Amino acid sequence: MDKIQMVDLHRQYLRLRPELDLAMQEVIDSCAFINGPQVQRFASHLSSYLDVPSVIPCGNGTDALQIALMALDLKPGDEVIVPAFTYVAAAEVVSLLGLIPVWVDVDEKTFNINPWMIESAISPKTRAIVVVHLFGQCCDMEKIIQIAEQNHLYVVEDNAQSLGAEVLFADGSRRKAGTIAHIGTTSFFPSKPLACYGDGGAVMTADERLAERIRMIANHGQQQKYHHKIIGCNSRLDTLQAAVLDTKLPHLDAFAEARRQVAERYDEAFGNDPRWQIPVRASYSTHVYHQYTLQVADGQRDGLQQYLREKGIPSMIYYPLPLHKQAAFYGFSRIGSVLSASEKLVQSVLSLPIHTEMAPEEVDYIIETVCNYGK
Ligand SMILES: *Cc1c(COP(=O)(O)O)cnc(C)c1O
Repeated sequence: MDKIQMVDLHRQYLRLRPELDLAMQEVIDSCAFINGPQVQRFASHLSSYLDVPSVIPCGNGTDALQIALMALDLKPGDEVIVPAFTYVAAAEVVSLLGLIPVWVDVDEKTFNINPWMIESAISPKTRAIVVVHLFGQCCDMEKIIQIAEQNHLYVVEDNAQSLGAEVLFADGSRRKAGTIAHIGTTSFFPSKPLACYGDGGAVMTADERLAERIRMIANHGQQQKYHHKIIGCNSRLDTLQAAVLDTKLPHLDAFAEARRQVAERYDEAFGNDPRWQIPVRASYSTHVYHQYTLQVADGQRDGLQQYLREKGIPSMIYYPLPLHKQAAFYGFSRIGSVLSASEKLVQSVLSLPIHTEMAPEEVDYIIETVCNYGK
């Protein structure tokens, strides 16, 4: 058995190598490294897949969030609600733009922002909510959109971890994560559900006016070359990355299915053990299992991680510190709700290996090893 990886990029490359090599070689032969035809081709394929009118590729997922917030034309000092338990990117760009992050707790079961705590966090300065579809599962978008509409707030969906997941609405309809709010963003970082071989990201929207602004902002605030209407930035998806992504996009649902099968085996093996809680599937979302995250009870998490390391099984703590306790934000943020779930989760979460190339004997070994912990 090879060394077990959290994400096995090499094995996936070997499996898809003929199509990937062909696509990459085509870009190199053309030397159209920036703005080659593959970039728009990929954007239009992703737009069809997601069923959203506009997909604007950009340099990475953090840029995508920055561009999204710049497009909303917020004023310094405006408040933006963000979850306290998540990756730093959303809160970071909020601060960079002179806006104030307002921390709201997550639901302990789903790891996603708790809609019931959003309302009390809203002040006269609040203008937007950035929700993050964490670990492969969507937030409760129906409830979030309802609160946002009642309070005239923009909503941005950070969908770096859940591309391909679907929100299930009460009326039976379903829509892809990242296409429901005013703007959605994603990342194509090599470990993400749809991954390139470097940096990449995209912004999506159904609002044509916003789409135009987003395109301008990502391209130095210009529509016509050397005529800059607004302050923008330089954020591009390069052609090689677009070619890799366009090759992988038709496999995206199969990637999710492969991870789902691993998750089902983990669920079955770990589900009835009082030492940990398996990931909860929300009724309003499908799950693409970007991560498989256990909550380990009674301070046993670090012990379990150390034991797994000794047995050659990697695991990760996403995330070890809630954002309201990060030094960077001291004095530049506001607490919007009790944050007890976020504070508890950082002590208990442990993400196990899950990826598109896991061999059945690797899953067997991980299951057997985890179940034997402390025995
Ligand atoms: C990875 C990630 C990002 C940032 O993406 P980059 O491409 O690394 O800039 C933003 N938000 C979330 C939730 C992420 O997981």
